Amino acid sequence: MTIQKFQKQIEDIYFTRDFARGIPLTFTWFVEEVGELAKEIRREPQNIERLREEFADVLAWLSTLASLLNISLEDAAEIYADGCPKCHATPCKC
Ligand SMILES: [Zn+2]
Repeated sequence: MTIQKFQKQIEDIYFTRDFARGIPLTFTWFVEEVGELAKEIRREPQNIERLREEFADVLAWLSTLASLLNISLEDAAEIYADGCPKCHATPCKC
């Protein structure tokens, strides 16, 4: 799945509800999901399947925020297409 397809998929599933909730509240949900990812990263022993789910959730909330703000994640990712955005090197030499 491409980033663009993922963003469209998340829009199809959640955009109406997320639009009604609004950006500020949706952002707090995103932060909450980041917190859940942090907990899963710290869990011993690590559970790869749960980690994978938490990464998916964080990505979904990030994606819906981008959609609410009319940002294409695909376009945003392009900023890194030619290496580090500051020094343009891969790996970064900053
Ligand atoms: Zn750099």
